[in-house]
Amino acid sequence: MSNKIDLHVHPYFEQYNLENVVEAMQTRNLSAIGLIRYNLDHFEETRKIHCSLKAESDDLLIKVEKDGKPFYLLRGIEVLNEDFHLLVIGNTEGIKQGQSLEQNIEKALENGAIPVIDHPFVHATSPRKGICKEKRKKLSDVCKKYHNNIALEWNSYCIPWIRRMMLGNDANYDLEDFAEGLFWEAGDYVPVIADSDVHARNKSLLQEIGAGHIIIDGVDCSSGQKAILGLKEAIKEGEDFGYRNNKKCVSFTHFIRAFGLPLVLNLTKNRG
Ligand SMILES: [Zn+2]
Repeated sequence: MSNKIDLHVHPYFEQYNLENVVEAMQTRNLSAIGLIRYNLDHFEETRKIHCSLKAESDDLLIKVEKDGKPFYLLRGIEVLNEDFHLLVIGNTEGIKQGQSLEQNIEKALENGAIPVIDHPFVHATSPRKGICKEKRKKLSDVCKKYHNNIALEWNSYCIPWIRRMMLGNDANYDLEDFAEGLFWEAGDYVPVIADSDVHARNKSLLQEIGAGHIIIDGVDCSSGQKAILGLKEAIKEGEDFGYRNNKKCVSFTHFIRAFGLPLVLNLTKNRG
């Protein structure tokens, strides 16, 4: 059986409960999601949320059963810094805002976690813009150093026409062009993985989780550690070998409802 996995979801448990997230996963046919918050690992709090469905968890994974099917929620964090944003899926110990990208990658690898540079072609502090030559060079150096031990993210919020309208770049196109260039010119393979980055500020916004996602056949989710290891190995094997990508953007309505125009124009505020 194939597992549809969206590693980048921002739930807002102040607005709804764990059952609502699992219901949305069921509707979207997702087996697993990464629980992400900016600069904050909220996994322990999430584990403690009362759930009327049968649930069990360990340090890295929450398993919830609904209608006889298991749904998995993985530990994760998104750290922001001046250069690039980084998702870490798995053990987040020692992952901090303010540490350099490489320090956080090293720490994630030491922890056996999965480091993903998310939306790498979106300027880290001015989201409407692309990245400058120096940052592109830095990204290239990091990719050449870590190869398939890291991944790059194709992001469902980078809707090409909206970015063009805001005089920005097509961040996903730039990413794919860059990753292909690395491979064909220098022989360096860094996997590109699709995810949604859905900011579900209210219950109805959960309906677009998994817009972008990866598909992996048969991940062993009997423990958090096994699940992370299985995912990590599948991603390392590469697209079309270890996993497949489903690259789909969120709808325009979702985008506007999730951020609203004022936030689109100033995305650094109201993060969750
Ligand atoms: Zn995010």
